[in-house]
Amino acid sequence: MIQVSFPDKQVREYPKGVTAMEIAKSISEGLARNVLAAKINGEIWDATRPIHDHASIELLTWDSKEGKSTMWHSSAHLMAEALEFYFPGMKFGIGPPIENGFYYDVDAGEKSISSEDFKKIEDKIIELARLESKFERKEVSKADAISYFTEKGDEYKLDLLKDLEDGKITFYSQGQFTDLCRGPHIPHTGFIKAIKLMSVAGAYWRGDEKNKQLTRIYGITFPKQKDLTEYLTLLEEAKKRDHRKLGKELELFTFSEKVGMGLPLWLPKGAALRERLENFLKKAQLEAGYQPVITPHIGHKQLYVTSGHYEKYGADAFQPIKTPQEGEEFFLKPMNCPHHCEIYKSKPHSYKDLPVRLAEFGTVYRYEQSGELHGLTRVRGFTQDDAHLFCRPDQVKEEFIKVIDLVLYVFQSLDFKDYTAQISLRDPENKQKYIGSDENWERAEREIIEAAAEKNLKTSVVEGEAAFYGPKLDFMVKDALGRSWQLGTIQVDYNLPERFELEYTGSDNQKHRPVMIHRAPFGSLERFIALLIEHCAGNFPLWLAPDQFIILPISEKYNDYAKKVLKLLNNYDLRGLIDERDEKIGRKIRDAEVKKIPFMLIVGEKEMETESLSVRLHGKGDLGSYSFSAFSELVHDEIKKNIHN
Ligand SMILES: [Zn+2]
Ligand SMILES: [Zn+2]
Repeated sequence: MIQVSFPDKQVREYPKGVTAMEIAKSISEGLARNVLAAKINGEIWDATRPIHDHASIELLTWDSKEGKSTMWHSSAHLMAEALEFYFPGMKFGIGPPIENGFYYDVDAGEKSISSEDFKKIEDKIIELARLESKFERKEVSKADAISYFTEKGDEYKLDLLKDLEDGKITFYSQGQFTDLCRGPHIPHTGFIKAIKLMSVAGAYWRGDEKNKQLTRIYGITFPKQKDLTEYLTLLEEAKKRDHRKLGKELELFTFSEKVGMGLPLWLPKGAALRERLENFLKKAQLEAGYQPVITPHIGHKQLYVTSGHYEKYGADAFQPIKTPQEGEEFFLKPMNCPHHCEIYKSKPHSYKDLPVRLAEFGTVYRYEQSGELHGLTRVRGFTQDDAHLFCRPDQVKEEFIKVIDLVLYVFQSLDFKDYTAQISLRDPENKQKYIGSDENWERAEREIIEAAAEKNLKTSVVEGEAAFYGPKLDFMVKDALGRSWQLGTIQVDYNLPERFELEYTGSDNQKHRPVMIHRAPFGSLERFIALLIEHCAGNFPLWLAPDQFIILPISEKYNDYAKKVLKLLNNYDLRGLIDERDEKIGRKIRDAEVKKIPFMLIVGEKEMETESLSVRLHGKGDLGSYSFSAFSELVHDEIKKNIHN
């Protein structure tokens, strides 16, 4: 018998050679129907693979990330089987699971595959899935593997085999298809109930443009038809909310190839919105004891040699700018931290002065390959809402709590309700990998966990995910469509204080190293605004909306009254504009709805006589007649619901 321990620490006995599927069955038939794979001693295994030793087990279903990716990997194999049916002699590259679904890179030889083939391939996949063919794992020798794929004539698999060691090679077969594969896979094809092929694209073998271009076919599968329908609806909704599309429609930002790819140009409305975000955070930071600083956009090469960035990223960064006379080299600033370290060093510090909190909306530049650029989420120049806290080791916890407070204040003001925190710790087995004393690490790790608990954060703690220079806490935010975004990092750093030889004088009159904490609640303004646009579908919270109202005169006769209204409302600290066009009021309302302006203020004869406004709310309709002060109160009350001062 072997002992199997479960995530809830329960331990049960099973005969040697038991499979995860049998274990699931011993718990409940319902569970067994949903088990896709299992985590055995932290490694993902087929649910049908025999377990011969004492082990820890976690059964993986569709609800887990690993369950999904096992299903999608298996779906790639199933698609390959369907493809082989229609395209005999097809050669296969690699077919991995991805964040949403899977792909397979294939070489169809003379033939070509287009989206017109999707329907018949999808139908075949479902037909094969219904056969409930088992995924069978087989260990093979390298020689046998080579002879199998030589006979099949698949040079891509042979190329992959070159890198594999004898004794570590496995094949997986289902139905008529056999693949070189590490696994793991779902028990049988019947778990796949719905499939959608998404797109085809070209992809060079091994990502190298000197190699042959293969056809990459993307697909996604689900255990229920209903899940697929929901996914497709979500995709449609995501398309409507795409920040690149809305950014254009709402005139927030643009790009110009002439300026350079990945370098956003903020249009007046976008710049104003961004400035409001900055001011909002600047105010909160001032109250929290931060001191604003400003540093240049470039820095001397020596700065980044000291910080270690040169060694690590120099070759993959924008290349140096050289001075014409002295031959000096400068780099575009990839991070603000080295500059802030030099600011800290500009005067001596006593333990009583700490923490020193230096904040900057610092614009940094990082080289991203052109193919990686994407709207505002992957750019080459962006502004971080950056700050560096220099503190004593005994202040780490308090500083974490304060930063968490600030991040939660930001989330609340912007209507993000669903968030979790991930705490990344050292790998306890590999402590020599990390810089900084054991004592400091242990203390910081414990205190970050305590800080998160005191703030009631939903937290997961992951060992081995910390950077070599310190533990960290990351916030994950779910947007309105349930997609996860990483936002708001708080990162301890023992490395830069060392490299820059930062010091403070302790109460013992000796020199000590401060601990540095990097933190950015938004991350970057670019990425954050992209997320915000997609989260609220362009319907920004009132305090942030580029225009809070638009005045719609019923005819040109009332344009002068509209101007008077605009001035008055500006005095109430509200912002908006007038639609002075000679258009029917119905048309003006429709256009204002498209622009997602929160309030439409209709003015005509009656309103002019009674010094009032007819108010309509975007997406909702008529709110009735308001005096100027009552309207102002309505807007300001609404704003206060978000921003609590
Ligand atoms: Zn595989
Ligand atoms: Zn930093």
